[in-house]
Amino acid sequence: MSILRKTATEQFEAIKNKEVSAVELLDLTYEQIKKVDEKIGAFNSLTEDFAYETAKKVDEKVSKGEELPLFAGIPLALKDNMNLKGSKTTASSKILENFVSPYNATVVDKINENLIPITGKANMDEFAMGSSNENSAFKIVHNPHNLNKVPGGSSGGSAASVAAFESSLALGSDTGGSIRLPASFCGIVGMKPTYGRVSRYGLIAFASSLDQIGPFGRCVEDCASLYEIIAGWDMHDSTSIKAEVGSPTKTLKNDIKGTKIGVIKELMGEGIADSVKKSIEDAIKVYENAGAEIKEISLPNLKHSIGIYYILATAECSSNLARFDGVRYGHRTANAKNLLEMYSKSRAEGFGDEVKRRIMLGTYALSSGYYDAYYKKAQQMRRLVAQDFAEAFKEVDALFGPTCPTTAFDLGSRNEDPLAMYLTDIGTICANLIGAPALSMPIGYDEDNMPIGGQLITNQMQEELLFRTAYNFERETEFHKVQANI
Ligand code: GLN
Repeated sequence: MSILRKTATEQFEAIKNKEVSAVELLDLTYEQIKKVDEKIGAFNSLTEDFAYETAKKVDEKVSKGEELPLFAGIPLALKDNMNLKGSKTTASSKILENFVSPYNATVVDKINENLIPITGKANMDEFAMGSSNENSAFKIVHNPHNLNKVPGGSSGGSAASVAAFESSLALGSDTGGSIRLPASFCGIVGMKPTYGRVSRYGLIAFASSLDQIGPFGRCVEDCASLYEIIAGWDMHDSTSIKAEVGSPTKTLKNDIKGTKIGVIKELMGEGIADSVKKSIEDAIKVYENAGAEIKEISLPNLKHSIGIYYILATAECSSNLARFDGVRYGHRTANAKNLLEMYSKSRAEGFGDEVKRRIMLGTYALSSGYYDAYYKKAQQMRRLVAQDFAEAFKEVDALFGPTCPTTAFDLGSRNEDPLAMYLTDIGTICANLIGAPALSMPIGYDEDNMPIGGQLITNQMQEELLFRTAYNFERETEFHKVQANI
């Protein structure tokens, strides 16, 4: 197998053992990008000069016999809502089309410290709003397993780049499922950490009480390692948690005998595709054989999570996106007669339809007279969902179910129906509402050979248990080894 198609963990071993140089691996990666990205659309821009600068530093260290930091030389795609100094950071929006970052996000500093070459800025739904990556202002992303299907969103470019061997690792952001859903649709592993584990400094805000940055990889170990690199307290983010990150990679391979896993009842009923249901049932057997105790768990308020999310996330985004006013950042209209017109025309020309829909929804939910009925009510309901999970975690260590009720759908098939699109997130949103870590991994393939994702959720701060539980499934199965034919 070409080195390009191996996991990041294997590639890193090969660099340390001088079987391949960091520059050679980067050459292969850019060759693949040039070959396939016209079809996939995973990148908004490439950062070749910067990536080669980093790769050369890695090779210099290898030639001097110096120790390498974890994943030095392993090509990584960065979602285009994270600031990389001197590069364009567009959030896939026309309003930021020509915005060049004046500083690095904290995660980017950490990636640079470990000498991980950043290959480019990954395509996404505009301002991370979407589930299919069809809301990018520039181009849609295609699923590497079938070019007529969506890759999932909003971190569709990040996930597709890893699945199409255009990068070995990627970073995404997850507000309601934007890492886990594309991981599930593209047949790779994606993980959202506990809220506050990873600094949001330098991430373009969508809904600040829900946003988290997290890793994508071809296996659980790749994700656990990348998580360790990016996690930790940051003085620049007041919501970041001051606590030890621990070392999930060290305990990853321990067994899970006696671990109690709850299967989420509400996600196994209405709307679930037969193939997805069957894969979950098969996965449960794998867990039983590994010595886990399985139990059905009911989360009665889970059904409200989409309604809650689309009030809170839109309210927060209407406030966060107020800063894009044509004065300080990005696009400014050429045809304004006065200041008010300048604001409104700049925003009307710069934002896409979905972003406008959300700003309007959120502004409405926050306006006087409606605030109590919508925003306050949604906050109260958020608490009820959290209580359901708190009860569940008294009985089980981890929760399990489908990442999404279906596999990747056809491009264009849900565009006209925002509600159908929003319902895609029924399995993922709850983890953001309660701030818990969650991970999606490949657990099967449907009748059209499209990947099926299984999701694990643990209590806040329980990333070690999350990765270990995931790894114990992966070790017994081959689904993560199925590769897109591209
Ligand atoms: N699909 C959800 C939305 O459209 C979640 C997006 C995300 O996690 N950034 O808002």
